[in-house]
Amino acid sequence: MRLALDQARLAARGGDVPVGAVVLAADGTTVLATGHNEREAGGDPTAHAEVLAVRRAAEAIGEWRLTGCTLVVTLEPCTMCAGAITQSRVDRVVYGARDDKAGAVGSLWDVVRDRRLNHRPEVVEGVLAEECSGLLTEFFRDR
Ligand SMILES: [Zn+2]
Repeated sequence: MRLALDQARLAARGGDVPVGAVVLAADGTTVLATGHNEREAGGDPTAHAEVLAVRRAAEAIGEWRLTGCTLVVTLEPCTMCAGAITQSRVDRVVYGARDDKAGAVGSLWDVVRDRRLNHRPEVVEGVLAEECSGLLTEFFRDR
């Protein structure tokens, strides 16, 4: 999560909402890929930290299935990212702050644990939550 927080800070530097993500390999420690929000930087509405990190992780291992992998992200994923998570088959999602306005991993929706889907990753929430949400609060206060 520390690494994801560093990524979030990079996003803010480029004018993007500070959200950062990391994909860990099946061993739980090897970093396969990182990503931060690049919506403003790239003019891409789908360039969320999680989508970029998942894409890069798949590139890194040369396979779209991220079985055994863990996605760590500073903010609760939105519906699009929750979709990307289920599609990528990551086995674990770890996030920091909850997103009461758009969260799709427990707040507004719980897409990744929907029993109608056949792939449901384990979810761990609230890791360094205060630090993760603090970055966001700071970012929006400065605007
Ligand atoms: Zn998202």
